[in-house]
This record gives sequence, structure tokens and C-alpha cells, in this order.
Amino acid sequence: MKKIYGLILFFGLMTVFSISAKKPISTLILTGQNNHNWPVSSVAMKQILENSGQFQVDVLISPEKGEDMSGFIVDFSSYKLVVLDYNGDHWPEETKNRFIQYAKNGGGIVVYHAADNPFPDWDEYSKICALGGWEGRDEKSGPYVYWKDGALFKDMSPGTGGSHGKQHEYVLNNRNAVHPITEGLPLQWLHALDELYDRMRGPGNIKDILYTAYSDKETGGSGREEPLVFTVDYGKARIFHTMIGHAGETLEKSPAMQCVGFQELLLRGAEWAATGKVTRKIPADFPTLGESRLRKEYK
Ligand code: ZN
Repeated sequence: MKKIYGLILFFGLMTVFSISAKKPISTLILTGQNNHNWPVSSVAMKQILENSGQFQVDVLISPEKGEDMSGFIVDFSSYKLVVLDYNGDHWPEETKNRFIQYAKNGGGIVVYHAADNPFPDWDEYSKICALGGWEGRDEKSGPYVYWKDGALFKDMSPGTGGSHGKQHEYVLNNRNAVHPITEGLPLQWLHALDELYDRMRGPGNIKDILYTAYSDKETGGSGREEPLVFTVDYGKARIFHTMIGHAGETLEKSPAMQCVGFQELLLRGAEWAATGKVTRKIPADFPTLGESRLRKEYK
């Protein structure tokens, strides 16, 4: 009798585990206001995430810029992952409080490109991004943070936070090869045409720096090795911040989101933020140091 109960328990647990392994990660993309082409970026991200079979994605569109935001009350708690594709007007206090609570409860968050621009005066949001740019940021926002002599360096010198030179292809340099997000990826690879954010400022609470890139003065950059892909130290939250992936007028003119490297980093960072693990295999078409590669169908 004991044996039968044991078997029932065993198969019961197997069923639970196999169901939980296959269940897609419930994901919310928050968008609707951005100085970028959010109708392109949010749809591209939804496709990238859902085509992997690992995520089920809802897209939440805020009121338009300047419209009444008071009814924009967001339920983050039912999601394993929140992807921020938003750069616009302040959320109502209730939504801000819920977002901080979601993070403090150990929520998974992806900060994508210009999502590190808004709310320079909202301290908790700045800590969730670690670094931000534009919107009047300066030395009061925190130090410049960049890679120098084999480590992250905090530079308190005064000046504007956030800029970028002209779009170009550039090499991403790995700074942590044992993190689940980067394990097995090339140490250096050529990213497709994109903006390279530089001179970003903020509290600088980067947990693991994953990739940096050299911002060449010849392309209008800072002359520094800039931190572009990292995780953020914010209590129990798992936060993946990617500054790469600019969405312009069309994806033909601004193909950064079509880059296999961008897509794979987004998928790996999103899975890690939601679960703490990465189960994805390294694809054969990942960019190399000599060649950037695109996936126009997002799969
Ligand atoms: Zn951009």
C-alpha cells in the first residue's frame, strides 16, 4: 500500500513539474508613451518573446502624452515579468507604489533602452534602473559609471547625463562569462547598427556588469568604455537592463532589434529576471566578432 502511495506521489509530482516547466512566463510589456517608435518596439518585443515559446505576453498601452493618467492603475502582481518600454508622463501614485512593491517582492523586470530616461526625480525608479540619461540629469543624479582599468569606475565630475553619437555597428565586450545570462555567449561580438548610450548617470547600483562597448569620439561618443547590459542590485528583485535595441522610424533604417545578439540577450535576460535561470541554448546564428547577424522574423 505504501508503495502505491509512493508511486502516486511520484507521478503526481512529475506531472506538476512537467506542467510548470512548460507553462509560459506571464509577461507584461508596459508601453504607450516614448520618444521612440513604441508601436514598433513593443510589437517586436512581444514577437521575440512569444516566438521563443517561453513567454505569454500582454501589452499594456498607457494614455497618450498629456492625457489624464489618473485611471492608469496597473496590476503588476499577476505577472512573473514586467518589460518596461515606456518613456513618458508620470504614473499615478498608486501605480508607482504597486511597481515598487512588485520589485521589492522579488519581481522580474527588464529595463529596455529609453525606459531608463523617464522619472529622473523618482529615486526608487532610478535605483531600479541604476543608470539613466537625459531629462535634466546631471551630477545630482549620481556619478557617471564606466569601465576603466578592468572594473566599473564611478566618476563624480559634473555634467549632463545621457547622450549618444551617430548610430553604427559596434563590438560588445563581455565582462562576466559565468553569469547565467552570458554563459556560453561569445566574449566579443558585433552588434547591428544601433545607438550607443554614453555618459549615463545614476545611483550606479549595478550588480553584474555583463557587456560594455567602446564609445568612440570619432562617432560622436564619450571616449569611454560604456556599460550597456547589466543586472541591478535592488533587494530581492531580479532586474535586467539593456541599453541596446533602439527602435527608429522603421526597422529597415534602425535594425537594432533585428540583431540576433539583441534578441538572444533579451530572451536570456528576460528568462533570468523571471526565474533566476536561463535554459536557452546558444543559437548557431549568433553574431561573431567579424559579422553582425539579423533575424527579421524574430525567431
Ligand atoms: Zn534610442
